[in-house]
Amino acid sequence: MSKFSKKSLLLALLVLLVTLFSACSSEPKELVQVENDTFILGTRGQIRVFAATEKKGNAAIDKAFTKIQDIEDTMSTSIINSDVYNINQAAGTSAVKVSPETLEVIQTGVQFYETTGGTFNIVLGSLIELWGIGKDWQKVPTAAEIAESKGNIDIQQLEVSGNKVMLKDAEMLMDLGGIAKGYAVDEAVKVLKANGIKNGFVNMGGDVYAIGTKPDGSPWYIGIQNPIIGATNAIMRMPLVDRSIVTSGDYERYFEENGEHYHHIIDPTTGYPARNELVSVTIISDTAIEGDVLSTSVFVMGLQKGLDFVEGQEGIDAILVTRNKEAYVTSGIKGQVEILDNQFKIVN
Ligand code: FAD
Ligand code: MG
Repeated sequence: MSKFSKKSLLLALLVLLVTLFSACSSEPKELVQVENDTFILGTRGQIRVFAATEKKGNAAIDKAFTKIQDIEDTMSTSIINSDVYNINQAAGTSAVKVSPETLEVIQTGVQFYETTGGTFNIVLGSLIELWGIGKDWQKVPTAAEIAESKGNIDIQQLEVSGNKVMLKDAEMLMDLGGIAKGYAVDEAVKVLKANGIKNGFVNMGGDVYAIGTKPDGSPWYIGIQNPIIGATNAIMRMPLVDRSIVTSGDYERYFEENGEHYHHIIDPTTGYPARNELVSVTIISDTAIEGDVLSTSVFVMGLQKGLDFVEGQEGIDAILVTRNKEAYVTSGIKGQVEILDNQFKIVN
């Protein structure tokens, strides 16, 4: 071997070593956990991620919260000039041009009206306003007031044409409170993933999505809140990876009058808060928007109808908890739900 080629071999070796060394040193360091909380969509929003650096984690979380704030600004009923505010203002008068996001949520809402046999209804606003659950004006309306508001929830009076939306009934109001939070969770997850996050979760007041596993490869365990008023513990938990878990309950927003409990999930058939054996419904699904909608509508359906409905839906599972502290679990997640509070038991 010539002197020249020996030299170049040594040089090549050196280059290789340097390359190998720098490859090692640029290997991902241990991921850092970054978490942030904020009050958003009328609830506590919490995002936890694992990122290469704290700065990257915080940047991803900030972008996700900005996205959620944009959704609130376009889909809130009370923010002046939001799409929904404008639709409600123009009810009976004119069609309103809305953002692609609002259009998507409205169209999804209309589809779910069909799927859920009308138990989920995005134009229930007149009844929701009348009851005012959680608002300053909450009260038990008269039967006549309820009958009148029930006359203004016919989804056939909602007209969607291109990117324009109109409520043809002047007394009708749109309310996306049972769907937009789930949508916001899904959108936040997209933002986090686009910013390199592979492990984490988003929790908007009980609408949760778990991104990937924990960094060590183990699943996230998500707790289900005790539905008994005043209790704060988790009654069960289940493992979750790349899925959503959403709970709706009668304990979240309510008031009491003459010993009666009035909560925020309205049965469109009666015009009253849904009254049956259920105290909470948890939906496990691929997207939080499905979970948000179905937790509300299965609550309206009640125990047996609700269970039958969920068993008939591809990719959807549920945990239904009754007033008697009995939990019913659908077939797809049997064996995965772990009781943490022995007052509750799985009975099916
Ligand atoms: P869910 O069971 O998921 O939803 C119940 C809500 O859905 C009810 O509150 C009602 O709005 C609606 N609903 C009830 N029955 C039905 C039915 N049969 N079909 C369809 N929908 C139904 N809260 C505040 O206090 N202040 C705010 O400024 C505020 N802004 C919000 C803005 C947006 C865009 C969203 C999505 C929510 C906002 N919220 C706000 C919270 C909102 O008022 C609801 O309380 C919340 O969305 C209920 O979510 P949940 O998961 O607890 O209950
Ligand atoms: Mg919900």
